[in-house]
Amino acid sequence: MRVGALVRSDDQSALEVLSLAQELGGGAAETYLILPAPQAQHPAAGKARAVVLEGLADADPAQLFAAAEALFGGAAPDVVLLPDGPLFEAVGARLAGSLGRPAVRDAGSVALDGSRVRVVKGAFGGKAALGLETEGGAVIGVRQGAHPAQDLPQTSLEMVQMAPPAPLLSGRKAVRDSSGDDLGRAKVIVSGGRGLGSAEAYAALRDVAQLLGASLGASRAAVDEGWASPSQQVGITGQKVAPEVYVAIGISGASQHLSGMSGAKFVVAVNRDDKAPIFEAADVGVVADWHALWPELRRALAGG
Ligand SMILES: Cc1cc2nc3c(=O)[nH]c(=O)nc-3n(C[C@H](O)[C@H](O)[C@H](O)COP(=O)(O)OP(=O)(O)OC[C@H]3O[C@@H](n4cnc5c(N)ncnc54)[C@H](O)[C@@H]3O)c2cc1C
Repeated sequence: MRVGALVRSDDQSALEVLSLAQELGGGAAETYLILPAPQAQHPAAGKARAVVLEGLADADPAQLFAAAEALFGGAAPDVVLLPDGPLFEAVGARLAGSLGRPAVRDAGSVALDGSRVRVVKGAFGGKAALGLETEGGAVIGVRQGAHPAQDLPQTSLEMVQMAPPAPLLSGRKAVRDSSGDDLGRAKVIVSGGRGLGSAEAYAALRDVAQLLGASLGASRAAVDEGWASPSQQVGITGQKVAPEVYVAIGISGASQHLSGMSGAKFVVAVNRDDKAPIFEAADVGVVADWHALWPELRRALAGG
């Protein structure tokens, strides 16, 4: 079976997906890296066929899909891997539909056995694992952190310059969120929940984040309160994050929040309720009223 991968240079898991593709394809996978502009310095450049898409930043999903189809030249590999995330949302399902193959998201592992594709994927917000088997190919969104990025051999960088097709939608306006935190790439995240009690207390959390060199996340309750922007929401309907350290303050630990932070390597939770479910997911739990803890913590972090 032919195996291919399509990643973007701004996907944190680009190298992971390329590595999985090469492993499945026995080193002969057809791999494509989309670069918004010529940036040969990207770690994945030279590990995949690079395609420079002009104006990619403003490309809509339909344009990205048309570009992906053009890349595969009407003969897409049987198994196409993409990072699970915005690129899969834009391209994955459409590609699967046009190829008449199943689309599978949140894949934790992928194995090939002849013409069979076996995928183990997350289900019920990551609480369960579901094994799927299909015949003849699939379009698969690979979960970030599911496969290690390997040291792929450097190949000469082949750049294909490509302008995205004309937009299919008219009257569309791109709206950018300017909250500034890229949670997907963050190594440390400090997230605040309803337990903070006010917009001011949430805003003060930015000081903690700054002192820790962290990005600022939020529970949905904090977003619903209007304290945080939707792009900061961590969870099943927010961002899936995989930082080295995740600090949850005043967050109860609802399953919908936990599923977004399940990739975190080390979790610190602060909650005044010692029975809060967040403590079950925490490596370090602090039972405390945040408002009492914060002045002490600020002094300690600031070095006096
Ligand atoms: C379909 C669906 C999708 C959802 N998607 C998401 C999602 O993506 N992300 C998400 O986060 N939620 C999501 N939710 C909502 C989720 O179920 C919870 O309602 C939400 O996560 C609760 O947010 P919270 O923990 O901040 O608030 P609460 O549940 O109100 O918890 C507040 C916590 O703060 C503690 N606390 C209170 N005061 C203090 C204090 N002074 N000091 C320390 N601790 C204090 C309390 O003990 C409590 O544990 C979803 C729900 C549904 C139905």
